[in-house]
Formats: sequence, structure tokens, C-alpha cells
Amino acid sequence: MRPIRITCLLLLLLYSGSLYSQGNKINPYKLNIISNPGAYTLLVKNDSLKQLLDIKKTVPGIVLDIRYATSNNFTHKKVYTSARAFARLKVVRALAGVQSELSKQGLGLKVFDAYRPYAETLLFWDIIHDTAYVASPVTGSRHNRGCAVDVSIIELKTGKELQMPTPFDDFTMKAGAGYQQVAPAAKLNRQRLISIMSKYGFTVYPSEWWHFDFNGWKDYELMDLSFEELTL
Ligand SMILES: [Zn+2]
Repeated sequence: MRPIRITCLLLLLLYSGSLYSQGNKINPYKLNIISNPGAYTLLVKNDSLKQLLDIKKTVPGIVLDIRYATSNNFTHKKVYTSARAFARLKVVRALAGVQSELSKQGLGLKVFDAYRPYAETLLFWDIIHDTAYVASPVTGSRHNRGCAVDVSIIELKTGKELQMPTPFDDFTMKAGAGYQQVAPAAKLNRQRLISIMSKYGFTVYPSEWWHFDFNGWKDYELMDLSFEELTL
């Protein structure tokens, strides 16, 4: 009986191992990337915090302006299949906290980008070879982990963005989170955004005032699933 039990255990291990390996897309940088819906399902089954949630459906009143789903972005083409934003469970909960606190001041968040499939990181790198502004495919982006968001603040009543030092995806020094030569109102609004996001567990990226990484992002895998594959 014993050898049979061992054989069964080995078969089970091989089976679960093969499910995981199905999710590992072979790429030039030998990164472990979840790129198979089955591997993602298994990941979430083992740890529900790994789930990527639709931000719009989960955070009341949050506004989306997904530039990569339009041609109004630095690539000048539509790179996303739909104007949606996803992030890991804890990230979405933190955004809900920010949104709720801002709403008490008549303000809210606008999201330009959140989870980004790894394939798009490869595309962005082909266009801009500068790690100050786009992630290197050697490491992948925190957006690929569902743990980064690009956001600004809007007035709830008008939907207008508060004045910030630059528009989103302005790849100049002026976009720096600590850049000093900006209008006082823009500096104040930038500080307001950085402070509230920090309070809920995010860290601003030094060269982009709009980009925030969720603390603990290292615990989450790189992913290369489309938005549609996340909601299968
Ligand atoms: Zn970003």
C-alpha cells in the first residue's frame, strides 16, 4: 500500500507543478510570469489576496481615464483591449480608503492606469529605453504585479483634475515627485496626493508624481493576462 500512496503523492505533485509551469511564459529574461488563466485560478485558490479586482466596480465613485485604451498616450496607439482598471485585493481596499477620505473634502481619485499585462511593458520599453519613465522588461513593472496605480485628484462636483505640476505621462524632470520649480498650487496638490496615498500604504515613484507602488508589491507575481482573461 505504501508505494502506491507515494506514487499517488508524486503524481499529485507533478500535476500541480505542471499547472504552475503552464503559467510560466518562457521569456528572454527568464522571469516567472503568470500568463495562463489556469495558473492564475490556482494562484487565487491558494491565496485569495492574489485576486485582481475591477477597481471601478469595487471603489464607489472612482473615475477612470484609461489612456492606454485610447490613442491619447505616448505610444499614440490603443494598447489595451478595454478601458478597465484592475489591482490586487489589498490595493483596491487601500484605494477605497483614499477615495472615502477624499470624498469628505468633495474630492476623488482619477485612475489613468493600474494592472498592466507584461506584454505592454515590452512594448513600452521598445519605445522609451529609459528606466526613469518605463520599467525594464528585465525586472518587469510593479504595474505587471497589479500593485501600482497611476492616479490624480479630481473635484467630485465638476470632475475636473486639480492642478498638478504636469499632465500624466509627461516624461520630463518637471514630473518628478520632488521637483521644486512648479506653481505653488500644483505643489500643494501634489503633496496632498502623496500624503493621502502614503497614509494608505503607497509610495510615490520619484520621477513620476502620478505613479504609486503599493508597499509589499514583492509578494505578488508578474502577470501577463489580458483584462478579459482576468474575468473568465
Ligand atoms: Zn505607473
